[in-house]
Amino acid sequence: MRKTLKSGLQVKPRGRCVDSLCPEYATVVVTFQSRYSTAPENPVGYCARHVEKRFVDDETYRQRDNAGAVTGRHVFPRSSYEIREPNEVESAELAWERGAEGRWKAEGRIGEYRRIVELHAAADVDGVFVDGWTAGACVALHDSLSERNRVRWLAMPTAEQCHVAIQLTMGGK
Ligand SMILES: [Zn+2]
Repeated sequence: MRKTLKSGLQVKPRGRCVDSLCPEYATVVVTFQSRYSTAPENPVGYCARHVEKRFVDDETYRQRDNAGAVTGRHVFPRSSYEIREPNEVESAELAWERGAEGRWKAEGRIGEYRRIVELHAAADVDGVFVDGWTAGACVALHDSLSERNRVRWLAMPTAEQCHVAIQLTMGGK
């Protein structure tokens, strides 16, 4: 699940490498250089290990092709990509993304809901299993409430919080 940052850089949530299931931070920016299109491609963040593994020289790429290996999904010809360090803006964005876990923890309950939404991963919140859709309703409601109502809503038990959030943001569906 990729996330597009304001600069256009795509990474996994929390600033992670886009390679599937890779837990490493993205530290290298890779951009496809299209010869035929003038529309700029989104740069993508990888960890250094996956850049080495996925982006091979043309000779290696051809050999794998000839050997009948399925190249498309796992290996890419390095010459078709720009591979570089993150620029200043991207570095700042990546640092912010890496701090997400700490911010969620510091926020308490609403941070737990934000985490579920951002990671698209249902989780147990005080004994209640909360899915992404419900957590999204909680975040939307929380962020739209006045300070006073927000305190009241946050004081509710999890199940009630979720119920109220769905009622008020989705009309009870
Ligand atoms: Zn990686």
